[in-house]
Amino acid sequence: MSRTIGWGLIGASTIAHEHMIDAIRAQPGNEVVAVASANAERARSYASTHGIAAGYSSVASLLADPAVDAVYISTTNELHREQTIAAARTGKHVLCEKPLALTVVDALEMVRACRAAGVVMATNHHLRNAATHRKMRELIAAGAIGKPLFARVFHAVYLPLNLQGWRIDRPQAGGGVILDITVHDADTLRFALGAEPIEAIGFKQTSPLARNGLEDGAMSVLRFDNGALAQLHDAFTVKHAGTGIEFHGETGSILGRNVMTQNPTGEVVLRSANGEQTIPIEHESLYARSVAAFCSAIRGTGQPAATAEDGVRSLATALAVVEACRTGRAVAIPPLAL
Ligand code: NDP
Repeated sequence: MSRTIGWGLIGASTIAHEHMIDAIRAQPGNEVVAVASANAERARSYASTHGIAAGYSSVASLLADPAVDAVYISTTNELHREQTIAAARTGKHVLCEKPLALTVVDALEMVRACRAAGVVMATNHHLRNAATHRKMRELIAAGAIGKPLFARVFHAVYLPLNLQGWRIDRPQAGGGVILDITVHDADTLRFALGAEPIEAIGFKQTSPLARNGLEDGAMSVLRFDNGALAQLHDAFTVKHAGTGIEFHGETGSILGRNVMTQNPTGEVVLRSANGEQTIPIEHESLYARSVAAFCSAIRGTGQPAATAEDGVRSLATALAVVEACRTGRAVAIPPLAL
């Protein structure tokens, strides 16, 4: 493959429009060469609005385009599986949105298809690319809070009006706050703690936005294999809470404020017997960093920020929370043979 990476967008989505097209174009030698939408007029207008050379009305047509080396999949969640497998079979590298699929079995099938085809597959978990989260992981690994005992995630936000569609009314598309937000928390906690969640409990809420059996709020607790407990508060319905993440250890606490966000913002405070210290952060675009790591993996010079396997594990955790909320019981998260 030439040094230039041609990208095909599968899904004329909001996230590609708001973040990913710019993140791809920020990488030297990367071009967005095509977009596919299920609707021909939408493909054409999205391509025209974003200065993309080709707008296709089918994924097969996009995958047949020799200018496409890699695809970014940001369709609704039930489509990720078949689109990833089709892309792998045509030799395209895959950066797929979370949740990877609606079941762990499907996600594993995607991973195996990409491995068999020898293409890179990664998950677009943006938060682990944030300078704030990387700094918190670094502090924990360096022993700044001693043994981590607890984490608390504050990720209850208000779903913007333009996104109040399939997320709140289409269970078959993988809607609901748990597959949308808890899945990100799971990845962020795994990343920061360097530990695996092994058990989940939770309760969900359905009011006032969600319909058709979907939840728009959830509180859950995860138990990790290093003994740490994490409490997660996720919602589409809360306008004024603000976001954050905290880690509390035997000798210190880390407080991340305004950090569960798509933007390069927020602050990190370390509290210990030495007092309170605001940690210097050099912010950078979360999405540009995700794309840069993916490109390094394609070129054989690095690893994706969040691998396909990371996406399977965050999905398994979110699905355990779904099941725990459904049954009212603790649900074990099985170790995955990856
Ligand atoms: P959108 O609702 O914007 O897009 C999803 C699909 O809906 C598109 O592929 C498109 O189908 C269709 N669609 C979008 N807008 C319109 C419209 N105006 N009229 C008709 N159809 C439309 O979803 P998001 O961009 O919010 O999410 C897409 C994926 O990205 C999901 O998997 C989500 O979980 C993930 N995501 C990840 C984020 C992250 O930070 N990692 C943040 C936000 C989302 P078609 O392509 O066929 O036209």
